[in-house]
Amino acid sequence: MEPLQVIRTSQPKSKPNEGELGFGKYFSDHMFVADYTSERGWQNARIIPYGPISLEPSAMVLHYGQEVFEGMKAYRGMNGEINLFRPEKNIQRMNMSCDRLGIPQVDPEWMLEAICKLVEIDSDWIPQRVENSLYIRPFIIATEPCLGVRAAKEYQLLIITSPVGAYYSSGMAPVSIYVEDHYVRAVRGGTGAAKTSINYASSIKAQEEAKRQGYSQVLWLDGIEQRYIEEVGSMNVFFKVDGEVITPELNGSILPGVTRDSVIAMLKHWGIPVTERKVTVEELFEAHRQGKLEEAFGTGTAAVISPIGAMKWGEQSIQITEGHIGEVSGRLYDSITGIQQGKIDDPLHWRYLIG
Ligand SMILES: *Cc1c(COP(=O)(O)O)cnc(C)c1O
Repeated sequence: MEPLQVIRTSQPKSKPNEGELGFGKYFSDHMFVADYTSERGWQNARIIPYGPISLEPSAMVLHYGQEVFEGMKAYRGMNGEINLFRPEKNIQRMNMSCDRLGIPQVDPEWMLEAICKLVEIDSDWIPQRVENSLYIRPFIIATEPCLGVRAAKEYQLLIITSPVGAYYSSGMAPVSIYVEDHYVRAVRGGTGAAKTSINYASSIKAQEEAKRQGYSQVLWLDGIEQRYIEEVGSMNVFFKVDGEVITPELNGSILPGVTRDSVIAMLKHWGIPVTERKVTVEELFEAHRQGKLEEAFGTGTAAVISPIGAMKWGEQSIQITEGHIGEVSGRLYDSITGIQQGKIDDPLHWRYLIG
């Protein structure tokens, strides 16, 4: 592989106010770009000033959606050090997504080096406040100009970064969710386990309708019987029932979240029973009737842990923790964010130090 070329910006942008970052609204000064052709493989890796890219209107991604992406964060630790969180898991998952979408895979070491180099070059974009972070968004698009329906022969890998605020600006707050029993997110044999734009495009209508009814997220059911719980919004989902933590098993239509994997490993490390299996909505509403549904939460890189306070399914509405944060949800949030921020020990060796 040829060395990475770096062209620094001559016009650094001014940084946004750290109190008003939100999510994905500001972008750092540089981006990583590499090109792929079927003859030469991945090549021409470069870090250049962040800015518009040019594509032919016939670029295949614009017509048939051949795209994959990832989402991870760089954190500034207590002593100014820079940490990533299990980056190898994101790279491995990106390659799995590529495989499903017919996109050429990347060399994991080359990719990790690209991420580290970009974060180092834009390290002054990593927020100072420990609760904030620099969100990293790698993605691959099919750039070949062609309207034939087949795998493209040309692609571009880009990595952009965005300083983001704590997901909960005023502390962790439980959300209310709407059990979606009409639209589905993914089906058996489909692309649900891949991180790709096409899953998002097809989920937006349901999300908007749930918002209109006053719910912040959609609880997705399986695409065949619409009985089994799969995910919540763009997060994996967990329930605590009668002392046991349960999460839907990976079945090919659920996205294998890095946070999901970390939550399961952390619970095992603590000796809290955790089971991956099929979970029906009926079962949860029945557990609630019996007073056994103790906690519910979503997991993902953006929010880490998102407690679920209320759920609506058809005509039935239930309250879960009466507006409080469940004990296990709170402990997981504190531990995982504590590890990411370098505040506490890292018993499972998840931090990856840059530089
Ligand atoms: C990214 C994503 C998740 C969460 O994965 P993490 O690796 O924990 O961020 C869950 N569901 C969907 C659909 C996703 O795209």
